Amino acid sequence: KKTVFSGVQPSGALTIGNYIGAIKRWVPLQDDYNCYYCVVDQHAITVPQEPKNLRKNTLDILALLMACGINPEKSTLFIQSHAPEHAELAWVLNTITYMGQLNRMTQFKDKSKKSEENLNAALFTYPVLMAADILLYQTDLVPVGQDQKQHLELARDLAERFNNRYSDTFKVPDPLIGEFGARIMSLQDPSVKMSKSDSDENGFILILDDQAAIRRKIKRAVTDSIGEVSYNDEQPGIKNLLNIYSSFSGEGIDTIVEKYRGRGYGDFKKDLEEIVVEGLSPIQEKFKTIRNDKTYLEEIYKKGAQKASNEARKTLRKVYKKIGFIPR
Ligand code: ATP
Ligand code: MG
Repeated sequence: KKTVFSGVQPSGALTIGNYIGAIKRWVPLQDDYNCYYCVVDQHAITVPQEPKNLRKNTLDILALLMACGINPEKSTLFIQSHAPEHAELAWVLNTITYMGQLNRMTQFKDKSKKSEENLNAALFTYPVLMAADILLYQTDLVPVGQDQKQHLELARDLAERFNNRYSDTFKVPDPLIGEFGARIMSLQDPSVKMSKSDSDENGFILILDDQAAIRRKIKRAVTDSIGEVSYNDEQPGIKNLLNIYSSFSGEGIDTIVEKYRGRGYGDFKKDLEEIVVEGLSPIQEKFKTIRNDKTYLEEIYKKGAQKASNEARKTLRKVYKKIGFIPR
């Protein structure tokens, strides 16, 4: 069986962007691959986090992943900081990463603009830790949204560089990015991606938003003055809503566009509200049950950590040996 790895940061509550671009696509992979799904708390602290919120978000996301269909019997579900190999390998990979490569990372450029008063070194080396996450498990495929493509390329590059410098050690992973829904945009500014850490909460819909919030945010979503539901780059707001509509309803874009021909944005948005509310409600129900069972949650993430750490240790041992560290 081939191996899949992917992660999500507990830097806030999950958005429908995370759901459509990543998690929804993780679920079917469980049947054919050996999957590792990780709540990457070490990545989340590259921007300031209130400890209380970080704890809550981490457990919320674990429960939410299960509510979305991640089955801990099939997949290894764990918390990044519980497998210390991630930070250990990241240190080694830092030594073969060029500053120039990290300087070109667009996520660093975007996020450093937002947190000028806390421009820490970890935000800069974030992609190196991400490479470690992936390479530790000899990963074949990494299902992510479009925004992570550049980081994936770095992970591939580091794997190849290490393999060339020492000898074959890491599998070179391939990204798995959907051609559709891989980049859901902010509802308030369709030129930037939807992000859970956006300070404007009207920009995103959370998987756990209540009905009223979902409806309000869709009503307020930015559109245009053209007034025709159509899928093109001149209407980025409508295009984004069409992507969301299609992802939740399963209907093709053409079918949806046809359905609203000659009708206004009001009708379209009203139906979209309905579809999103209905799509999220079963997930929200399951979430409540799982989240309330603290012992069960703890059992899952402890088992996950043990399994992940065991696997990761194998790769790390090889790495340490090749670079000349004395085994203990
Ligand atoms: P943050 O703003 O803190 O970085 P985020 O919303 O970008 O949060 P991440 O935890 O960084 O979420 O990413 C988790 C997964 O969701 C990744 O695979 C990422 O590519 C995907 N993803 C994030 N935002 C979107 C989006 N707007 N559309 C599609 N996929 C997305
Ligand atoms: Mg992100």
